[in-house]
Amino acid sequence: MDIEKFRQNAHELVDWMADYLRDLEEYPVRAQVSPGEILKQLPSNPPSRSDSFEEIFDDFQKIVLPGMTHWQHPSFFAYFPANSSPPSVLAEMVTATIGAQCMSWETSPAAAELEQRMMEWLREIIGLPSEFQGVIQDSASSATLCAILSAREVATDWRVNRAGLSGEPDMVVYGSTECHSSVEKNVKIAGLGKKNFRKIQVTDTFAIDTRALVDAIERDKAEGRLPICMVAALGSTSSSAIDPLLDIADICKRYRLWLHVDAAWAGSALVDPELRWMIDGIEGVDSFVFNPHKWLFTNFDCSAYFVRSPDALLKTLSILPEYLKSEGGEAVRNYRDWGVPLGRRFRALKLWFVLRSYGIEQLRKMIRTHIDYAQELALEIGAERDFELLAPTPLALVCFRYRPTKVASPVELDSVNERIVKEINDSGAAYLTHTRLNGAYAIRISIGQAGTKQHHVKNLWSRVKQTARGIRLVV
Ligand SMILES: *Cc1c(COP(=O)(O)O)cnc(C)c1O
Repeated sequence: MDIEKFRQNAHELVDWMADYLRDLEEYPVRAQVSPGEILKQLPSNPPSRSDSFEEIFDDFQKIVLPGMTHWQHPSFFAYFPANSSPPSVLAEMVTATIGAQCMSWETSPAAAELEQRMMEWLREIIGLPSEFQGVIQDSASSATLCAILSAREVATDWRVNRAGLSGEPDMVVYGSTECHSSVEKNVKIAGLGKKNFRKIQVTDTFAIDTRALVDAIERDKAEGRLPICMVAALGSTSSSAIDPLLDIADICKRYRLWLHVDAAWAGSALVDPELRWMIDGIEGVDSFVFNPHKWLFTNFDCSAYFVRSPDALLKTLSILPEYLKSEGGEAVRNYRDWGVPLGRRFRALKLWFVLRSYGIEQLRKMIRTHIDYAQELALEIGAERDFELLAPTPLALVCFRYRPTKVASPVELDSVNERIVKEINDSGAAYLTHTRLNGAYAIRISIGQAGTKQHHVKNLWSRVKQTARGIRLVV
């Protein structure tokens, strides 16, 4: 593809992109295909001769697009959002065009310095104290791994980095039963062993029971284990529960645990100063992660990891082989030392485009709107006699179920609610997912797409009621 052909294709593609974003609502939200349906349309072998861009793009529309779930659809209410915005997409086009690999300052000084500044902007936007220093990671999972590795090294004075785990006491990591699955995965990756991960019980709001946390730490200490890290959930994935940070920080200080905050989704809501009660206790936090790629209109991937002291992180992860020695010395940041991968995409550019395009005011308004829609929806659900809320709605996630008086058995209730979710998702009109709360099947409605308006939420709620009440119950 020569440059003039590239120019022509790119212009056409941009037109397609704008049409796609304009016409998103015409697509079914969740892909309506069965397993293997796409695979069987793809030739088993790579082409030996070149295909034209027209042919490739034609196949993209015919084969690939029907197998895509449209995450930017305004009726996407599943999981948590991975939202985006036009300025973010434009920045990604530039990033891909320049194609820089931003592992160190020297490999693109502007990328390193823009990243530093964007992390300072984000820190201010969400109200973190000024000592925190940030780095962009690919995911919250990776950031939490860095936190656990740092905790392990601080607790052993970097002995594990030097000599491995043998001879060390069992090191214990704590989180609630509702904390994200990445915590357990990272405990395993860090070599600490799943048996040394404590899932602490929660209270009726699904936030961690801090008395049970203290008991577990005491028990571990009494039995010769070394408690090293607590991962607090600020907005748990299942039900958006918010762990009480102030109490947890106190406990971590008392027992000298590294305190990591996983605010992957909810962190973006801190753009609203009225929600900063969630980070009461931040003074006692060692590290904090949130994903602008979830709820801050910056397309995947972009996860912001903040640490109180970069020293511990750098001492844990930095290495300097001869072939990576570069210009700049102490005066520059080499972000390769701030995370696991060496190679790094230029992710700061899209944040810069997004933060400047909207400004704090507009970002706050957009997120506040999502929260307002969710609060209203929760009120409406709570007011219906045959529906019940199954968790509090502090932010923009509503967990509930249909509970007709005729159905008494828990198994029946689960299956009726499962059918509601399946019917709506199969219709393509909206997409929602579920969780389990206290053992019960709960429908989750998570509101956070850039294009979601009040009527999308209202339509969904009508559809849920209609679908639920239309199910013929066999009693
Ligand atoms: C989504 C989520 C994660 C995982 O985020 P990734 O960036 O995909 O690794 C972790 N914790 C919480 C609370 C989440 O909601």
